[in-house]
Amino acid sequence: MEKNVRLRILSYGVIVYLLLAFSWWSILLFVKNKDAYLAKAELLRIALAAEGLYIDEATFRQNEAFLLIEREYQRQEWMIMGEAGVFVISLIIALSLINRSYHKEMEAAQQRRNFLLSITHELKSPIASIQLVLETFLRRQLSPSKVEALSSSALQETQRLNQLVNNLLLSAKLETAYQPFFEAVDLKELITQLVTMLQTKHPKADIQFYSSEQDGVWIEADRMGLTSIILNLLENALKYSEAPADLEISLQEINGHWQIQVADHGIGISDKDKEKIFEKFYRVGNEDTRKTKGTGLGLYIVKEIVEAHAGTISVTDHIPRGTVFTVQFPISDPPENLASKMKRALDQKV
Ligand code: ATP
Ligand code: MG
Repeated sequence: MEKNVRLRILSYGVIVYLLLAFSWWSILLFVKNKDAYLAKAELLRIALAAEGLYIDEATFRQNEAFLLIEREYQRQEWMIMGEAGVFVISLIIALSLINRSYHKEMEAAQQRRNFLLSITHELKSPIASIQLVLETFLRRQLSPSKVEALSSSALQETQRLNQLVNNLLLSAKLETAYQPFFEAVDLKELITQLVTMLQTKHPKADIQFYSSEQDGVWIEADRMGLTSIILNLLENALKYSEAPADLEISLQEINGHWQIQVADHGIGISDKDKEKIFEKFYRVGNEDTRKTKGTGLGLYIVKEIVEAHAGTISVTDHIPRGTVFTVQFPISDPPENLASKMKRALDQKV
């Protein structure tokens, strides 16, 4: 940081020097140009006087040769001003570009630092608590109920570790080799399953699922990818709401798209952060003060998978409180094509 500040001060110093030096040269040019003009006019005056042609200053100023000198002088003055203007404008543009890329670089560095801090914390804390549980088992004779309670908490920690590692691997894969495996998936059934699973995991939360469709909603998609999208959005909605969380997920057809909306009544996201939450490792707030756990990979993964399905994702405020995430997938398949795929998928099930 120290080095950075010194570098910035040095570069500001160089810029100020450049501007001062340039201003000085410009003024000097102006003065010298004027001197040359006055000298040329004086020479002409003397030459005319020698030939007895100089009558008075007013007639002299109408003289063709003098007008030529004056025009030349004015043209050079404009040239100096033009050059100075171009130089100052280019300098300002160049500086603002340099400044912008410097800020981008600083932000990226901050995100990497954030990521390292959070990942270290996320890895260390489950390992420490599993270690503690195992040490307790070794040292003490515990009642079966205690053993069960401790084991299930250790199990939860291993699940967290597993999820973290999966997210890390998936995000690395998304950058290089994500190949969605397209198959016919019943979106309505998948959401119902995931909601039931999450409801069991968070019995106090209220998770409502609405679908405008009576029957199954079949789409051509990567089942693992869809699962990751829905789980990430629902888990965020749970995580960023005060307990007991109260959220809705809906599925409906809108303008030739299947639309999934996840709405919560949680802490909400400011407009400034809305632009950034889909970036890799971005988490709102500061690593030291944040209460929730996470790596900032969830929404990055969601966005990448949605885009691999030619879909879109957006985020808006939930009035009066909370956030709404909207995912849309185009309905591309003609109905008869999808019907046959549906049948094939159903056949495979039985
Ligand atoms: P991870 O999902 O990798 O465990 P994470 O939840 O912090 O970690 P993302 O899911 O990418 O990461 O979310 C990025 C940030 O966006 C979160 O840190 C949080 O600040 C904000 N955010 C996401 N969803 C919501 C929501 N429903 N309400 C309020 N803030 C949210
Ligand atoms: Mg998340």
